[in-house]
Amino acid sequence: MWGGTVAPVTVTEPSHRCDGCGATLGSKDELDHESGAGGRSWYCRYCGTAVPGIVAEKLSHRRDGSATDRRS
Ligand SMILES: [Zn+2]
Repeated sequence: MWGGTVAPVTVTEPSHRCDGCGATLGSKDELDHESGAGGRSWYCRYCGTAVPGIVAEKLSHRRDGSATDRRS
């Protein structure tokens, strides 16, 4: 499953560097979200650049540990 080129990623502390303003987004407090037809969209709260959903969801689940783990 994990083949191919894998960039070295630090897993301990999920954060995302904004492509727009370079801010390090480390929690959902630093994200804006919008509910749309295709689900939730996430944005940098400082400049409004879109943040990949998979990253944002990870950040948003970091502190409040609601155990909504859905596997199928
Ligand atoms: Zn930004």
